[in-house]
Amino acid sequence: MAKVNPHFQRIQREIIFPVIEKKMEGKKNLVNLGIGDVALPLTPHISQAIKDATTEMTNRPIGYGPAAGYSFLRSALSEKHNVPAGEIFISDGINSDLAGIQELFDTSCKIGVIDPGYPVFGDTNIMAGRDITLLPCTLENNFIPQPPSCHLDLIYLCSPGNPTGVAMTTSDLEKWIDYAKEEKALIIFDAAYNSFITSDNVPKSIYDIPGAKSVAIEMHSFSKSHGFTGLRCAYSIVPHETGLNAMWQMRQNTKYNGCPYIVQKGALAALTCLDSKRQVQSYLECAQMLKNALGNEIFGGKDSPYLWWKVPEDMTSWQFFDLLLDEHNIVSIPGLGFGKSGEGYVRLSAFTTKPEVEKALQRLNVYAH
Ligand code: PLP
Repeated sequence: MAKVNPHFQRIQREIIFPVIEKKMEGKKNLVNLGIGDVALPLTPHISQAIKDATTEMTNRPIGYGPAAGYSFLRSALSEKHNVPAGEIFISDGINSDLAGIQELFDTSCKIGVIDPGYPVFGDTNIMAGRDITLLPCTLENNFIPQPPSCHLDLIYLCSPGNPTGVAMTTSDLEKWIDYAKEEKALIIFDAAYNSFITSDNVPKSIYDIPGAKSVAIEMHSFSKSHGFTGLRCAYSIVPHETGLNAMWQMRQNTKYNGCPYIVQKGALAALTCLDSKRQVQSYLECAQMLKNALGNEIFGGKDSPYLWWKVPEDMTSWQFFDLLLDEHNIVSIPGLGFGKSGEGYVRLSAFTTKPEVEKALQRLNVYAH
């Protein structure tokens, strides 16, 4: 038997979703505020574009596309972001890009990941044999990761953040750009939730900060902004200034055969879809309803579909999760599932509908402030 990669065993994180599903078994009439998936259907505008593209494929053969994506979508995104089309790489999800990007770096690289954070940042590096440094996002720093005093080569940031729902302001990001320049480091900036930003002082792109193009790769997704979690389309911006553009092109050419034509046509339509904007607005209104009702100890939710709720004193995040489930029929996510600094919180998701939020708030009225 071939020797397996020993680093997989170093993943210590508890896989929480099967545990949660088990706990939900047999329970009826739950309000699910746990799920980080879309709750509204694909818009007719996007769906029509996909149908048209499918018809096109029945009229003429459309085979393999370019690994980096079709020029119709790359050009449209190039205009949207004001970057050259050659810096945009279409894929089937940020998850895939996160899994791949670490391959460009040496195993000796020092990796910084936000804690709590999206598990893929750290786990892909651990699987590749690297050690990671946690960048705590806690109440003490308003859930904003701070540049450390030690050296890092690669830093994973996410704004607005999952799970905290807190977004980084211009000055928060400026500190990181300064750090990256000083340390000759690279930032991987996960912008999966940027369409939820409402605050004026929160940039929608790290490239709004002068000098960021030489030290940051930015990742975007159609998943949460346009209901594409089941369709799969995302893109990474890899600026020439990083010196990594040709390397990423080579990696994609070798390991990826491209996002489906019909999905990219859907993504193109999504860029001009007003209904998608209304959907994002509706999720944000759900977040606001929860935030307004549940008091001062609830964070995020302004620029994000996620709320980060401090659990009552002397309870763990799992205990509060159980209480919400058993006493109130509400599903949340225990913060510990996103890393050790997530202890003491649960994540509520506003990927739901207003009637569901109203139902939840009636059940949670003991926590109303
Ligand atoms: N990044 C963050 C922070 C996420 O929360 C998610 C999904 O929940 C992803 C990336 C995955 O995005 P995609 O659906 O494009 O793979």
